[in-house]
Amino acid sequence: MLATLLGRQGHRVLVVERHREPYQLPHAVHFDHEIARILQACGLGDQLATISEACDTYEWRNAAGQVLLRFGGRPVGPSGWPDMNMFWQPALEALIEEAAHAQPSVEVRRGTSVAGLDDHGDEAGVSLTLAADLGGAEHQAYARYVVGCDGANSTVRDLVGISVTDLGFFYDWLIVDLAFHEPREFVPMNVQICDPVRPTTVVSGGPGRRRWEFMRLPHETVAELDDRDRAWKLLEPWAITPADATLERHAVYRFQARWAEHWHAGNVLLAGDAAHQMPPFAGQGMCSGLRDAANLAWKLDLVLTGTSSPDLLDAYEVERTDNVRAVIDFSMELGRVICITDPAEAAERDTLMAGGVDGDAVAAPPPLPGVTGGLVHDGDPLHGLLFAQGRVTDPDGDGDGDGDHGRRSCSTTWRAPAGGWSRSIRPSPRRSPTSWRPGSPPWAARW
Ligand SMILES: Cc1cc2nc3c(=O)[nH]c(=O)nc-3n(C[C@H](O)[C@H](O)[C@H](O)COP(=O)(O)OP(=O)(O)OC[C@H]3O[C@@H](n4cnc5c(N)ncnc54)[C@H](O)[C@@H]3O)c2cc1C
Repeated sequence: MLATLLGRQGHRVLVVERHREPYQLPHAVHFDHEIARILQACGLGDQLATISEACDTYEWRNAAGQVLLRFGGRPVGPSGWPDMNMFWQPALEALIEEAAHAQPSVEVRRGTSVAGLDDHGDEAGVSLTLAADLGGAEHQAYARYVVGCDGANSTVRDLVGISVTDLGFFYDWLIVDLAFHEPREFVPMNVQICDPVRPTTVVSGGPGRRRWEFMRLPHETVAELDDRDRAWKLLEPWAITPADATLERHAVYRFQARWAEHWHAGNVLLAGDAAHQMPPFAGQGMCSGLRDAANLAWKLDLVLTGTSSPDLLDAYEVERTDNVRAVIDFSMELGRVICITDPAEAAERDTLMAGGVDGDAVAAPPPLPGVTGGLVHDGDPLHGLLFAQGRVTDPDGDGDGDGDHGRRSCSTTWRAPAGGWSRSIRPSPRRSPTSWRPGSPPWAARW
């Protein structure tokens, strides 16, 4: 995605991916409104509806089905997109890759691994040693900057010697993705079953799909759990059989919480899981990586065009690390509550949490932290917080604030003579216009 954002600014980008084919194991299923907006900035806005569905309710329930927590995604969040979006990752990755291929200045080289790296310092850039397939013939590439988006076991991170802090949070979960043969509605769409006998997550996996996640219990081995027949057995309480759905993929993952001590060394930067990993209980791992990409995209553009000095890139790490660390803490906090297997502790949790549920009321999703350091304007009460995406109107019509029309309007607005023509900005509903109530922005309480 970073390649696409830079390619749209006309920069030459080489994307190197060691696998010839897209990754097939289960990964992310949720992205938030801000991520939808970033994807929109890559030109994918119109296609998001085909691969995702808005989630209105996410509940936590105890073993007896009692609600412990309920919050709801607003159909229009501050970014003009639903707060919570459930999606099918292979389809999103295909869209992202297609968007990169559509940029004439972006080259995507699959089946190629980074095997070595030599940072010449300052403006001299970086030489990369690339290998066609793992262990294949080597060749060289040169880049002004290298961004290591190469996952949890990042080669780039190792090559520049950046260490990782591991917070010692480990849980193994079996992930099972099903594609249903017939459309089926699940209410609530997303539910966390806080059953000490088997903590389980059941969520949408995008249109027509559903995901079950089962925590490994202390007496089980990974091999016992990572088994297709075992997955069907665990699905029995939901009365789902191979006649209803195809089990597309299953895998046992060890959820971890780790971060790289630095995200920037010379002409090398880290982003995504190479820089941070978190348990997926808040659905924010990939989202955080895409925030990294969006943050880097505009900074690299300014540096590469000579508009700003390379020092600007120092702000990347400052702006992103506090935010990510807070999200990691939050994800671990959720995990500690969800993963309880002691019956007495679970009963205590249930009593405490059920007491906080207000009938059928649906709480707003918890806010994500803003940017606390870096290039923020100290002194402004809203500094570091996301700016709402508006609907922009000018004499030529109207459009999304982040879209081409919005950009044109903004630039002409600032140049237009005062009183020349009117301009209005209102939140930009993408799917459910009726949910927006003028004068009462749903995110006002948060901001
Ligand atoms: C079960 C599960 C559920 C999740 N749910 C969510 C969710 O709902 N929402 C969310 O936001 N996040 C979620 N996450 C987290 C999310 O999937 C990850 O944070 C995200 O996929 C990381 O993306 P990445 O591109 O940084 O790393 P990766 O997806 O690991 O990609 C790194 C790429 O780099 C390539 N590579 C590695 N080394 C080299 C090399 N030397 N040379 C060339 N290429 C190389 C790899 O082949 C790989 O394709 C979940 C994770 C799991 C496991």
